[in-house]
Amino acid sequence: MTLKDIKEGQSARVLSVGGSGALRQHLLDMGIIPGTDIRVVKYAPMGDPVEICLHGYELTLRLDDADKIEVEPVSGDTVRQEEKLPKTVNEHLGLGEDGRFHPKGSGEALPSGTLLTFALVGNQNSGKTTLFNQLTGSKQHVGNFPGVTVDRKDGVILGQKDTLITDLPGIYSMSPYSSEELVSRDFVLNEKPKGIIDIVDVTNVERNLYLTMQLLEMDIPVVVALNMMDEMTGNGGSVDVNAMEAMLGVPVVPISAAKNQGVSELVDHALHIARYQEKPQRQDFCDENEHGGAVHRCLHAVIHLIEDHAKQAGLPVRFAACKAIEGDPLIIDQLGIDENEKETLEHITLQMEKERGLDRSAAIADMRFSFITRVCAACVKKPKESREQTRSRKLDRVLTGKYTAIPVFIGVMGLVCFLTFNVIGAFFEDLLETGIDELTVLADRALTYAGVNNVLHGLIIDGIFKGVGSVISFLPIIVTMFFFLSLLEDSGYIARVAFVMDKLLRKLGLSGRSIVPLLIGFGCTVPAVMSTRTLPSQRDRKMTILLTPFMSCTAKLPIYAFFVDAFFPRYKALVMIGLYLLSILIGILVALLYKKTLFQGEAVPFVMELPNYRLPTARNTLQLLWEKSKDFLQRAFSVILIATIVVWFLQSFDFRFNLVADSRDSILATVSGFLTPLFAPLGLGDWRIVTSLVSGFMAKESVVSVLEVLFSAEGGISAAISALAAYSMLVFSLLYTPCVAAIASIRRELGGKWALYVVLWQCAVAWAAALLVRLFGILIGIA
Ligand code: GDP
Ligand code: MG
Repeated sequence: MTLKDIKEGQSARVLSVGGSGALRQHLLDMGIIPGTDIRVVKYAPMGDPVEICLHGYELTLRLDDADKIEVEPVSGDTVRQEEKLPKTVNEHLGLGEDGRFHPKGSGEALPSGTLLTFALVGNQNSGKTTLFNQLTGSKQHVGNFPGVTVDRKDGVILGQKDTLITDLPGIYSMSPYSSEELVSRDFVLNEKPKGIIDIVDVTNVERNLYLTMQLLEMDIPVVVALNMMDEMTGNGGSVDVNAMEAMLGVPVVPISAAKNQGVSELVDHALHIARYQEKPQRQDFCDENEHGGAVHRCLHAVIHLIEDHAKQAGLPVRFAACKAIEGDPLIIDQLGIDENEKETLEHITLQMEKERGLDRSAAIADMRFSFITRVCAACVKKPKESREQTRSRKLDRVLTGKYTAIPVFIGVMGLVCFLTFNVIGAFFEDLLETGIDELTVLADRALTYAGVNNVLHGLIIDGIFKGVGSVISFLPIIVTMFFFLSLLEDSGYIARVAFVMDKLLRKLGLSGRSIVPLLIGFGCTVPAVMSTRTLPSQRDRKMTILLTPFMSCTAKLPIYAFFVDAFFPRYKALVMIGLYLLSILIGILVALLYKKTLFQGEAVPFVMELPNYRLPTARNTLQLLWEKSKDFLQRAFSVILIATIVVWFLQSFDFRFNLVADSRDSILATVSGFLTPLFAPLGLGDWRIVTSLVSGFMAKESVVSVLEVLFSAEGGISAAISALAAYSMLVFSLLYTPCVAAIASIRRELGGKWALYVVLWQCAVAWAAALLVRLFGILIGIA
């Protein structure tokens, strides 16, 4: 019987884990090892994947992968053993831990002035970024989706010069599974920080400690930060910190990153262990009495075998030994052991497998988890079910429920659009527009009054005020959109969407994880492309990146709003939603095409943690909005301002730099004239429109500012083109090449060839789609 055969709500004990390679290692690292009890929480609305609960946390798994896990059913009540509760909670010891972590007085401090580098390491969603922000006062984006941190970020600890702390992508183990996990492992292994701050989500302590155990093997000073203590104690749980310290052999500090509790104590400890280079006291977690001590003897034998090689290669020896036993090719290569030693290694390992009755990877993972079980039994009193878990369970009943999940998702997205375009965004937009108009009139009067030169007057009013002003008035829509997207992401909902949509996305050749970059793509393509690094396979990453430009980014909103205001004011939301649906539809068609051609084969397995729903903190949300507004305004006053001025200049002068009376004679008209024939079939053979589209390559918002500058003289855009042409224009802008910033980020991920491909391909698709719209319009007679 396999895990696939277990019904919703029932439990089973793992007998063996099949499969091979990185996926199998990943499953083991996530705690699916022989002997573990797993409860099937629910199947996704479309029947696949399945949500399971083990070691007190929730994980998603595809049926195909669940089928590889042999299990035997167990009845519900034998699942949880009673946990021993610690009776007394002692006073937590202070700095230097009373000499417990180095013999008192013997520690030599590093010379003052040495740069103390720290790595912030932990599972995904354990609160690393929140802590990083607290420590450095910086404003990194925080999200409640596995893998929001995609790049490493450095900062100085507030008030502590000579420190440098690096926020790394979340990892579950030191066996990297996705490309960003490799970033974290390489950082710890190669850059050898002076100290590691290991952040542990205490509400999910078993799974989090698994990484801790591996960090302790790295031979680098470690301090463990038990985060989310507020949630733990708020629900009646507690941790005997001193006992845990004694068992782990490193300082353990309970904190709450979100509430900024215990953070300064953590800093004290971190500085102390780094300054005195207090390495973990204990790395030896294999118990000689456990299962006849097979794993223990094997590990120690291998440690002796490779000791000299590890030293030479600069690898921590116990870590290298574990990896050598697991057969990690990267590490074995680095060790450079000869054939003889390889054979000995194999013999030792085979003997262990025989004695232990488990294969090598499972045996090592099991050794770690049994130690963790002992630690938790001795030091952790878990709350029965925390408020957050109860809440999550109740919410999940609706949000991932069989019949409710998809309607809710559509409803949520619809509501977000409605609120953004028709209510909140629109209200502020009107307000801002009126303000800018007033200001323009005022400036106009002032310039006239002062008798300023006509050309300069034109530049300021028709160029800068009209152009940049029109862009700025769209700020509210963009900020609102980002607000909702970040709310969904930060709360943990998007992870559920990935769970619900996995089966559907699989039909397109993607996995549920790809939904995140794609949804972020509705905000901005740049972070969307970056967030694909969380995808574990190269194929999925590439395909997702190539699809993100089809998700209409917020910078295109001003274009839509501009045309909708001019042509279809009564159907504002309808036209907007229509555009979004169209872009999704075309995205799907392209994905299907890719699946058949460029990206044949299967999407990677979908093993993902489902975090508890958490209310995003006001601070995080406000910070994000502030960042986005700042970013947008900076662009409005740099790229867009310059583009506007250049366009104004080119349309005001001819090739001999004489001021032209009719802009048809201008430099711009002549140059754009070469491209207009290409746009004529779309009904857009007007040089002004072509110019605006070209400027959109710099930044999408400048399409509007350029149109505003070029059409302001002659009764606006609605006098110049038909409604059908306007719709073609909308479709073309929806799909054509992403802006320079997005292309640059695609280039960074996939290289120049693919970036060029995206530019050309998007333009071709846009052109074809716009033509179809026009032909269809003519056919049904609305030309
Ligand atoms: P990362 O993925 O490790 O960088 O985690 P984040 O910093 O993005 O945090 C994940 C989620 O946990 C966010 O919703 C945070 O608001 C929340 N969070 C972080 N620290 C705490 C804490 O101490 N207590 C509580 N209750 N929530 C926290
Ligand atoms: Mg983060």
